[in-house]
Amino acid sequence: MKVLFVTSEAAPFVKTGGLGEVAGSLPQALKKLGVEVSVVLPKYGPISDDYRKRMVHVTSLTVSLAWRRQYCGIERLDYQGLPFYFLDNEYYFKRPGFYGYFDDAERFAFFSRAALEGLKIIAPAAQIVHVHDWQSALVPVFLRAFHPQCNAKTVLTIHNLKFQGVFTHWVLHNILGLGDEYYTADKLEYYGKVNYLKAGIVFSDLLTTVSKSYAEEIKYPFFGEGLDALIRSQEKKLHGILNGLDYNDYNPQTDQRIYVNYKNSLAQKQKNKLKLQEELGLPTKKEIPLLGMVTRLTAQKGLDLLIHILGELMEQNLQLVILGTGEQKYEQIFKEAVSAYPGKFRILLKFDEVLARRIYAGADLFLMPSLYEPCGLSQLIALRYGALPVVRETGGLKDTVFPYNEKTGEGNGFSFTNYNAHDFLFTINRALRYYQDKKLWSELIKKATAADYGWEKSARAYLHLYRGLCKKGR
Ligand code: ADP
Repeated sequence: MKVLFVTSEAAPFVKTGGLGEVAGSLPQALKKLGVEVSVVLPKYGPISDDYRKRMVHVTSLTVSLAWRRQYCGIERLDYQGLPFYFLDNEYYFKRPGFYGYFDDAERFAFFSRAALEGLKIIAPAAQIVHVHDWQSALVPVFLRAFHPQCNAKTVLTIHNLKFQGVFTHWVLHNILGLGDEYYTADKLEYYGKVNYLKAGIVFSDLLTTVSKSYAEEIKYPFFGEGLDALIRSQEKKLHGILNGLDYNDYNPQTDQRIYVNYKNSLAQKQKNKLKLQEELGLPTKKEIPLLGMVTRLTAQKGLDLLIHILGELMEQNLQLVILGTGEQKYEQIFKEAVSAYPGKFRILLKFDEVLARRIYAGADLFLMPSLYEPCGLSQLIALRYGALPVVRETGGLKDTVFPYNEKTGEGNGFSFTNYNAHDFLFTINRALRYYQDKKLWSELIKKATAADYGWEKSARAYLHLYRGLCKKGR
């Protein structure tokens, strides 16, 4: 089985969230199952020099985008036994960031076209081209329009339906080079605009999303982001496969970035907590429960619930630390909270992998009251590091965190159903009551860390889908 991943991020080179994490680790897991995987991504400016120096120039191509003829260099870097190909065009990608530029429509159309033009060189015998989110969702339509002789099948994984890549009608002719026959309600047209993710949903051979619950949820208007009717019409080809976590990388027994390595011991976790408190300038007391969040600061993550109950929460004997970047409104509210709750609350407005891991290692509870959550990796990391997750029952959170049941002893965390701030507070308080019982808490840590959310099972599920697809004719 030969597969090409076309993705706008892949760890460790580029990661802004879950997509980067998945595109970095799923190919490795597939490789262990005997799949030959290559990964192609843009050669962005912020990719570190260590990696850039190791890239080897393979060839260069000219890529058509409507009337444009653009240069594209192909560079290869082998990382942990996998070939990664970087598409080089400095005009499009040598910028300080990754997304959010005025010409994203053109940049990612270029990326998708270039990946297909390079297919003959990168992965000539690929049976499957696996694309991710709107940034590479044009690949299936370009394959149909410009490479009709290519037999590869396409799989689109939706990591977050909210981001769709919607642009003016102008791009259809002037960037995509497609004719009006593609501008219909059952193809790329979306309320008078062109929707890249919709193109992928319609033209891909198979559609996946990152948990079973989210695959169900997006068939309804509340979660469907305006595409629920389309998703319902395509439901036969839709599958929910939970993301895994790279258990080698996220391993508290070997993680070099945390203060003290441990397996599942409360005492060792407390050593991490004391060091973290010290680093953050909080009172260093191992008995005080430390609540943590590592998150994008956006409404999706349920921050409005937290803000609503922050006053009541902070009256209690606890500490709360949030690491995240995002919307200014949230940054501002949390900055003000630092002075309102001195010695109890910290906000760290940055993207910091080391600190993130120290929070997972040091926190007793990890808060994730998401409004919606396609899969969520943070709760999986929290489980792995024995920070008991408090989550809302939605999407992947519902599929991975099971509320502790006092009577049966089952469960690996705490959860609530409705998007309601006081339900959230009640659930935190319930957890805090159990926290007072050190013996019970130690057992809960053991349960949390024993959960297996590694990649193997999920990689097998993808392989099963790939095989099924290859058996089908065009
Ligand atoms: P999403 O992809 O929606 O942002 P996920 O939970 O799927 O959410 O994945 C988020 C990933 O990004 C996790 O690995 C989390 O630890 C990491 N992350 C989020 N914000 C930060 C930050 N400010 N610093 C370091 N890591 C972060």
